[in-house]
Amino acid sequence: MTLRIAVIGCGVAGQAVATLLADSGHAVTVFERFAEPRPIGAGLLLQPTGLAVLRALGLGEQAMVRGARVDGLEGRTHRGRAVLELAYADLHPKAHGLGILRSVLFELLHQRLHRSSARLRVGSEIADVVRIGVTASVVDRSGATHGPFDLVIVADGAHSSLRQRLMPAARAPLYPWGCIWTTVPDLDGIGAARQLRQRVRGTTEMMGLLPVADGQLTLYWSLPVDQLAPGRPINLAAWRRTAAALWPEAAAIVDHAAAADSFSRATYRHVALPRWHDGPVVFIGDAAHGTSPQLGQGANLGLLDAYTLARAIVETGDLTSALASFACRRDGPVRFYRQASHLLTPFFQSRSGALGLLRDAFMGISCHLPGMRGLMGSTLAGTRRGWLSSVALDGEGRYRLDG
Ligand SMILES: Cc1cc2nc3c(=O)[nH]c(=O)nc-3n(C[C@H](O)[C@H](O)[C@H](O)COP(=O)(O)OP(=O)(O)OC[C@H]3O[C@@H](n4cnc5c(N)ncnc54)[C@H](O)[C@@H]3O)c2cc1C
Repeated sequence: MTLRIAVIGCGVAGQAVATLLADSGHAVTVFERFAEPRPIGAGLLLQPTGLAVLRALGLGEQAMVRGARVDGLEGRTHRGRAVLELAYADLHPKAHGLGILRSVLFELLHQRLHRSSARLRVGSEIADVVRIGVTASVVDRSGATHGPFDLVIVADGAHSSLRQRLMPAARAPLYPWGCIWTTVPDLDGIGAARQLRQRVRGTTEMMGLLPVADGQLTLYWSLPVDQLAPGRPINLAAWRRTAAALWPEAAAIVDHAAAADSFSRATYRHVALPRWHDGPVVFIGDAAHGTSPQLGQGANLGLLDAYTLARAIVETGDLTSALASFACRRDGPVRFYRQASHLLTPFFQSRSGALGLLRDAFMGISCHLPGMRGLMGSTLAGTRRGWLSSVALDGEGRYRLDG
């Protein structure tokens, strides 16, 4: 079957699904609101799961060359007490993550999209989706209608404006804390450890440094959302003092970031849909299951959604079965990561001193308890199917997409 497919949103999930479906012979049109599609934000951590999807797209090697290998996660309090110590090698000696600039990930996916037969319509903000029998058309802000399509894939991100309109029962509350983030030169040699490193003081101060390219780190700093309101100035002189006191070894990086003043602001939502699809309209990526980035999974989950949906369409004879199969395969993992992120976030970003004390007392120790270490390691690697099981990595330490 050749399907007419609309993809709304030219982000991580949208570009991946459009490319995979176009490669399978479907007639795909991507609608993007920006005249020039672009990524917003600094860098992110790709897990073995996301890397497997990039390999399926033929982008694995380029990503490895342009990103920075990450072997684990280390979190400490300002006093040096370990709160997180996880290594991919616990799952498999060859397993690893990859820090990558969002601009690089975007460029790889975008060039790949252009090499596929998918059409891209930029400057086309979709305001509505209208169902006509088993098909659907999309309506842009100017009122123009495009379609009909056999399938409309909504991939318009965590702050989706279509979600509430198309699925009124969806919930997407804003987290009370977000962050500022930027990319800085690694002036203090922090990336040499090949780890995502974090420093915390209570639950109100958190700084992370993620290697994202040779000699470059993405820095993020937690802030309450009221301080992230557009136009509200951020006191970088005060930030510089607080951050340097939290992490003295990173003082040169902090100084550089404060002087460069090129931070982006990010807020996150805890998104839950009553179901993945309604007739020919299906949600993927953050539009379907935005989380706080505490577990570093959002882009990886979106890439897995894209792969699973494209696969389900190839494998099953009709769209109804494909959507049912997609929903069934993605339900468990996505529910797990949404719940786990939600559970963990207040231990790192909240005003609860008690949660900070509990974290400092027990989290570092639990990273070394046999059962917990496996659960936490596989959670980081993105391989959980749910609370009770995970997908084993293959002989090369890679995630098996059809495992
Ligand atoms: C601070 C921070 C750190 C993060 N770190 C990590 C990490 O380490 N690892 C990880 O895996 N994830 C991480 N994430 C999450 C990750 O960034 C997201 O999960 C991912 O970008 C979601 O991809 P998406 O394609 O669903 O949405 P997006 O990438 O947001 O793309 C949505 C696209 O839709 C377009 N759009 C929106 N509305 C419309 C419309 N109406 N019509 C047409 N186009 C529209 C937008 O312009 C955009 O291009 C982090 C997020 C934050 C905020």
